[in-house]
Amino acid sequence: MRDSASADNLAAHQKSTPNRQHKSPVPLSQFPLKDGLADTARLASKFEEGQDVLARWSDGLFYLGTISKIDKHKHRCFVIFEDQSKSWVLWKDIQTGKWDSGGEMLCSICQNESSEPPNEIVICDKCGQGYHQLCHAPIIDPSVIASDDKWLCRQCVFATTTNRGGALKKGPNAKALQEMKQSLPYALEDLVWDQGHKTNIQQCYCYCGGPGDWYLKMLQCNKCKQWFHEACIQCFQKLMLFGDRFYLFICSVCNSGPEYLKRLPLRWKDVAHLSLYNLSVIHKKKYFDSELELMTYINENWDRLQLGELADTPRAERYEWILEALNSNLNMFMSGKEIKKKKHLFGLRIRFPPAPQSSELLSGREPEKASHEIKIKGRKATKPPHSSRLVIAYLVLLALLPRDLKLGQIVELNLRINLSKSRRSRPKGGATAQKIIILDIFGRSLYTICRRLKNFTSLKSLGQHEQKSGV
Ligand SMILES: [Zn+2]
Ligand SMILES: [Zn+2]
Ligand SMILES: [Zn+2]
Ligand SMILES: [Zn+2]
Repeated sequence: MRDSASADNLAAHQKSTPNRQHKSPVPLSQFPLKDGLADTARLASKFEEGQDVLARWSDGLFYLGTISKIDKHKHRCFVIFEDQSKSWVLWKDIQTGKWDSGGEMLCSICQNESSEPPNEIVICDKCGQGYHQLCHAPIIDPSVIASDDKWLCRQCVFATTTNRGGALKKGPNAKALQEMKQSLPYALEDLVWDQGHKTNIQQCYCYCGGPGDWYLKMLQCNKCKQWFHEACIQCFQKLMLFGDRFYLFICSVCNSGPEYLKRLPLRWKDVAHLSLYNLSVIHKKKYFDSELELMTYINENWDRLQLGELADTPRAERYEWILEALNSNLNMFMSGKEIKKKKHLFGLRIRFPPAPQSSELLSGREPEKASHEIKIKGRKATKPPHSSRLVIAYLVLLALLPRDLKLGQIVELNLRINLSKSRRSRPKGGATAQKIIILDIFGRSLYTICRRLKNFTSLKSLGQHEQKSGV
């Protein structure tokens, strides 16, 4: 279960706030993310017990869940996810998709409806939410309003491109992601870090500003020292291992362009350490048979370990090297012998991921000492995340469905919805109808929703055959 200091950054998509005055009920030191809204009551009104929401997990991805409690003091909700795992989630990491009931298009960041040049409300062609040009990160160029090309908000760009194993590298959305990633939706310098610069009290990491666990699948930028999710990084050649810090990584912000990634060398004791750490995360136990479990894991993941010079070691010779590393580093590895178990069982004395020795990384930094055991919280490792397409579908549905229809029931129906032609920039007084048709797996129409909104966004259902060219 997460516990956290409060953080108001529902309006996190804002770095350079246009001149607005904010009243904050909580000391400003707790609001690292410069924003346009610090009104707890107004923020809290977005959430209700029993409400279906999308909540960002520490892997950077959104999952469907239901709010069971609201903690106004700490700006968080207790969310029960689809797989029944439960966690406190900060408001900044919850997407409700709730629209203003009055039908006015509001900026989803500052909740204000004024829309005048040079700060007009621009409507996302994917989720239909509005954003002031200056509230969105990065700031929306006036050329977007003039153009007929589709425009996606930061959230939708992330929702359509982030993935387990790394974000999309190709296609127009991948390009848009690359551009978005050159600025952060929060003020990095305001984050309050622990001593080792691994966790911050605001639970704000990465390009996405979501929560994170540095000891799972995250990389630290060697320049700004922020941590980034595997799911949001676009430069991986191989799937990441848990707690694998044997990389020299420069984020897109620091690199002013694509990320930089270089594999750092591992020694045999690092291979044993990293592999035992991964086994302990995956199997949630401490001791592993050095030959049957550890060596099998190493051989199966030989490519992913990216061992450089060691990579050419013939399979038959590997076990010898590993066994020697285990037996000659008993300050790090614990043999089963010590606890009257079999001597070929090994475990980490302290479950903590290995640190690279590279001088490039350690310059100007204290060498790290593993002083405490890493506690792995309940994770959603077994369940594949929803496809970005479904996440978008949820966002739209959350915004439009009547409350009494539970989203969880609809999820099973293999939604076929799409957004078609939509329009940005709220027209003065203009109104068009929005329509969603939810089809079941056989393509039969189950539910039709029409809603009049003061914008040109229109939703149109599309059958399965049309979907490939869509979302
Ligand atoms: Zn705004
Ligand atoms: Zn959007
Ligand atoms: Zn991220
Ligand atoms: Zn950086």
